[in-house]
Amino acid sequence: MTVYDVVIAGAGPAGSALAIELASEGYSVLLCDAARFPRDKVCGDYVSPKGLARLAALGCGEAIRGLECTPIRRSRLYLNRDHLVSGVLPRVAGLPAHGHAIPRKELDDILFRRAIGAGAVVRESCRVTGFEATARGVHVSATHEGKACRIEGRLLVGADGATSAVANAAGLRMNDPRYTLASIRAYAHGLTLDHTLMYFDEKYFPGYGWVFPVRPGLCNIGVGMVSEPLVRSGLKLGDFYAKLTRLVHHLASSKGARVEIGPQRGWPIRSYGGATENHFERGLLIGEAGCFVDPINGEGIPLALSSAHLAARTVRAAFQEGRFGKDFLARYEADFRARFDPDLGISDLSVTMIRNRHLLPVWLAIFRTMSLTAQQDARYAEVTGGILGGVIPAREAITPEMFVRALAHGPGFWREALGVGAPGGLSGWLAGGAALLEFQSSLARAIQDDGAWLYEWAREIQSKQKKLGASVLRGVLFEGR
Ligand SMILES: Cc1cc2nc3c(=O)[nH]c(=O)nc-3n(C[C@H](O)[C@H](O)[C@H](O)COP(=O)(O)OP(=O)(O)OC[C@H]3O[C@@H](n4cnc5c(N)ncnc54)[C@H](O)[C@@H]3O)c2cc1C
Repeated sequence: MTVYDVVIAGAGPAGSALAIELASEGYSVLLCDAARFPRDKVCGDYVSPKGLARLAALGCGEAIRGLECTPIRRSRLYLNRDHLVSGVLPRVAGLPAHGHAIPRKELDDILFRRAIGAGAVVRESCRVTGFEATARGVHVSATHEGKACRIEGRLLVGADGATSAVANAAGLRMNDPRYTLASIRAYAHGLTLDHTLMYFDEKYFPGYGWVFPVRPGLCNIGVGMVSEPLVRSGLKLGDFYAKLTRLVHHLASSKGARVEIGPQRGWPIRSYGGATENHFERGLLIGEAGCFVDPINGEGIPLALSSAHLAARTVRAAFQEGRFGKDFLARYEADFRARFDPDLGISDLSVTMIRNRHLLPVWLAIFRTMSLTAQQDARYAEVTGGILGGVIPAREAITPEMFVRALAHGPGFWREALGVGAPGGLSGWLAGGAALLEFQSSLARAIQDDGAWLYEWAREIQSKQKKLGASVLRGVLFEGR
């Protein structure tokens, strides 16, 4: 029986990217996937400039250009039905000037074919069900075309996404509702846009909706929300999705177009806040199997590619030294923590805060303040838009300069941002005062009725702030990032 150097379970962006790197260097790689390609994957399909740069480095640039997807440079942000602010993706040296929404059926097929071209052996309709690590290798159990089979390797990499069987078998599967998002996606036919649309709604905050242009006449639409506040507030994601579709129809009719929305599909998203050690005896987890998804915007494709790149480093070292034990593979965790903790830690902390819906009026006021600041301050708009668009690291948002830009405004600005009425307008002030009193009493009720949850939430914030402070400082002092 063939013993592969590396068995990779899952041929999404993470698995195929790792297969391309390792097979090109001469490692024997088996890339197996439960599906047959080309296959769809529930996703917003947005690939940021960083993701496109990584795909080009993997040799997929030309094939992606051939898909002729709409170059995305601009974004419009909506709260309820109001357009709050528009932004342009800033130019960053060394990165493409745009992102693309690329249907995953097409993107993943390009990567999969590229892995075959690089020399990986592939097995489709092959579902990994478990594994056993021994001193000499790893026995992987799977079903191939529905029949049980066994695969032998020296290392196993779990790249099998949000429902990872490898993570499960390694005891590393993350199911925490605080770091898992529920989501729904569909394709809207007949709508042409040249910008993305991000949609928030007070009732479903911190959930978000999106409309991403794929090509003329085709957009990817969907909604996502962290599971914990969704369940605790008794909200239904389907209702939020229905609201988004009404906005999409409204948008299309304002352009004189008619939209047909295809079938909706739901899927979980596992975000970085819940990332575990992601290594085990004779194995690693990459991509979403290892929770490599940005908590703030649900972006997982570039992180799937980057985590594969980091894993390749550890795999090379393991083969050079002939060491495949958990202790040796821990260098992968050290690498990804150094690389991702500072920025994804900021995203995770932000999402942890806004998960507390008792403070909804505070988050909405901050949200409006940020949007209004972005309307008036080009530099602020560039940084915040660049972070959401995946070209600027999140730590750029917490510099003293950004705080000054966010807060140094005159009274007129604050009246508008906090919605307390026109200057001198008594009714506006009274309404503002009444809203403040209502908020105060609802907070007092929450402390009485939901004190235990609030206490845990505050402790979580505190421990994340400490951890984040340490990782940002480490990044700045020792790695110069
Ligand atoms: C609704 C939604 C919207 C999103 N929007 C975006 C976005 O716009 N931009 C972005 O960057 N990210 C987005 N993401 C996140 C992104 O889709 C994922 O993070 C990304 O696909 C992770 O890539 P991966 O290779 O790790 O896993 P996947 O792409 O999930 O691939 C896993 C592969 O493993 C296979 N598999 C599963 N189980 C097994 C098994 N037991 N054995 C063998 N094979 C198996 C599957 O068939 C699949 O091919 C979104 C996610 C969702 C759900």
